[in-house]
Amino acid sequence: MKIEDVVCTFCGCLCDDLVVEVENNRVCSVENGCTLANEKFMRDHRLKNPIRRDGNGWKAVSYDEAIRETAEILLDADRPLLYGWSGTHGEAQSVGVHLAELIGGVIDNTSTVCHGPSIMAIQEVGHPGCTLGQVKNRADVIVYWGANPIDAHPRHMSRYTTYADGFFIENAFRDRKVIVADVRQTESSAIADEFLKIDRGGDYAALSALRAIVRGKGDLIPSRVAGVTREQLFRVAEICMKAKFGAIFFGLGLTMSPGKYKNIRNAIELTQELNRHTKFTISPMRGHWNVYGSNEVFTWITGYPYAIDFARGIAFYNPGETTSVDILMRGECDACLVVASDPGAHFPRACAEHLARIPTVQIDPHVNATTHLATLQIPVAVTGIDAEGTAYRMDGVPIRARKLFTGSYPNDQEILEKIFARVKEAKRS
Ligand code: SF4
Repeated sequence: MKIEDVVCTFCGCLCDDLVVEVENNRVCSVENGCTLANEKFMRDHRLKNPIRRDGNGWKAVSYDEAIRETAEILLDADRPLLYGWSGTHGEAQSVGVHLAELIGGVIDNTSTVCHGPSIMAIQEVGHPGCTLGQVKNRADVIVYWGANPIDAHPRHMSRYTTYADGFFIENAFRDRKVIVADVRQTESSAIADEFLKIDRGGDYAALSALRAIVRGKGDLIPSRVAGVTREQLFRVAEICMKAKFGAIFFGLGLTMSPGKYKNIRNAIELTQELNRHTKFTISPMRGHWNVYGSNEVFTWITGYPYAIDFARGIAFYNPGETTSVDILMRGECDACLVVASDPGAHFPRACAEHLARIPTVQIDPHVNATTHLATLQIPVAVTGIDAEGTAYRMDGVPIRARKLFTGSYPNDQEILEKIFARVKEAKRS
């Protein structure tokens, strides 16, 4: 059976034009997808059943046992942490927030180690953003700052920027200028019209120099700023000011380099300066397919986008204190539920060591680095393959990921609802 308009639940582009062939509850071909999508759909090797650590090995357990044990672990904990959420659909994320509130725990998503600084900057100075459709149809200047889309979001350029013709852009490759700013050469910088090679840690200075030029204070700029020549800075500022519609996309090269959220604030303020001359927007390149959704869902329920602590009985948010890495580094939490992410692969070593010391339950379809730290793992259906649900694209547009076939695995939402019901019942009795 061939299914059209399939949504790829891998990266924040959430491409919704894949054609997938399914046979005997297995994906056997994928059209229109990039290599990451092919890998996701074609090499879907799942854990077969829930497993519990047993000495140095693992023991298979039933779903009922795994759910009961998870509920007990959460009920026994004084400071439980519920982490992850970027690889599952919004309906499951919503149950997660209610569970965290019920047990007085901390709930955090993967923004904590990616675009958390972007959100903090947006909270301070706002977000002059737009949809990817606007970029495709209108933008004649694109800036990628600290991002390498060819590697991390392989179809971003072909669907929305460099190679995507739009309503007002008839020949995108000819008419659209692309500027890349990064600390090293990348596949994306190789095809840029201008490449700003910035010294490590120099993003803030380079952004400030561009802001000064756009503001008409170019005479203050020295011959070189953060490794970039004065001439190139003026050239880039001029391209941006002459644009009919410009769009800046920034990645972890900006959010996680020295300066962190101040870099993003500076980039947003550069965008605001450019809006004195023309139309300019700025957007984060969100990584996991529904990390934006976790920020949306957490915010509409609690008022905060990540790192929410319910220990006081109300939602409390203080990045640096209630963020997962900080809680784990302090050895503060005594149980952890990991859903749809892999902190074992991405967190600092001390955090991973603490996860291995405490009861850690992972809800995830696949064996990953966190499995090796976990006490219990519950495999689930994959949203976009054998589960459906709502996801938010990197520009905040909600997209429904469909189910391609009905498999034998329960989905995240069903497992979480059962854990929630058990915890609620235990608390009542
Ligand atoms: S760019 Fe991202 S969403 Fe699009 S097909 Fe590739 S991995 Fe999937």
